[in-house]
Amino acid sequence: MNDVAKKIWLNGTLVEPQQASVSVFDHGVLYGDGVFEGIRAYRGRIFKMQTHLKRLFDSARAIRLEIPYSIDELEQAIRQTVDANGQKDAYIRMCVTRGEGTLGLNPFLCVKPSVFIIVDKIELYPPELYENGLEVITASVMRNHPAALSPRIKSMNYLNNILAKIEALDAGLMEAIMLNHQGCVSEATGDNVFVVRVYNGRQVLLTPPLHAGILEGVTRNTVDRLARESDVPVEHIDLTRHDLYTADEIFLTGTAAEVIPVTKVDGRSVGRGEPGPLTRKLISAFHQFVTNNTPED
Ligand code: PMP
Repeated sequence: MNDVAKKIWLNGTLVEPQQASVSVFDHGVLYGDGVFEGIRAYRGRIFKMQTHLKRLFDSARAIRLEIPYSIDELEQAIRQTVDANGQKDAYIRMCVTRGEGTLGLNPFLCVKPSVFIIVDKIELYPPELYENGLEVITASVMRNHPAALSPRIKSMNYLNNILAKIEALDAGLMEAIMLNHQGCVSEATGDNVFVVRVYNGRQVLLTPPLHAGILEGVTRNTVDRLARESDVPVEHIDLTRHDLYTADEIFLTGTAAEVIPVTKVDGRSVGRGEPGPLTRKLISAFHQFVTNNTPED
């Protein structure tokens, strides 16, 4: 158990981590039947809370899960848990499971969803990789087909991503980029992917479209906006392995990862093999934005 998280919000009450448990009959445990969000607080301000909660409710709606709280109530619950943990900079995990049911699959026999909030720290990659860049592979396991389990749903079933992560770890690396059923780039195991191309001296930022089968990342949308605001055109366009191998820069975005450069893919150096100028610029613009922005900027 983690010694940083002090209080867990569980179904309306703050409890000690030791008391924070769900039933072995919870379909979240039995089948990965549930949805979640990962949110960050910077200097005590919760970044894009409304956007995250909207995505949570959208995910829940897609799997016919009724969250027994309103958005406002969950907003209060998040604030209460952040306050109770006394962390100004924190990673917040909010989960909604289907709840206790029978051993059969039927989700409608589950009594009541379990909702819990954990406030903790997270370090997805060591700090030096933000300076030097991450080496990744493209995974052999394909991203979930959107018609099977849509990656738009942030569900509690991450086995697809975990299998890709294992491939990376087996290769001695920390991250993998997953391709979809058409061989196009989808996303990394817990992050969105961006590619920079320089045409006639002009930078263009490329990222897979939602139809590629990706989570619509809150960080992706923020970085997209920051790039446009600094006059860098952004295109949501299908990308292949070839685009990764010939990219001038690559970086990943996610709430936990924030913005991290990728400097090698499948043994090929990206650009000069070091974090590129646009990546560096967007990393610093992102840090400035998250620490200065008003809550729903
Ligand atoms: N893709 C996947 C599969 C994710 O799990 C995440 C979140 N960890 C992201 C992308 C990035 O989304 P966000 O920027 O909203 O955290």
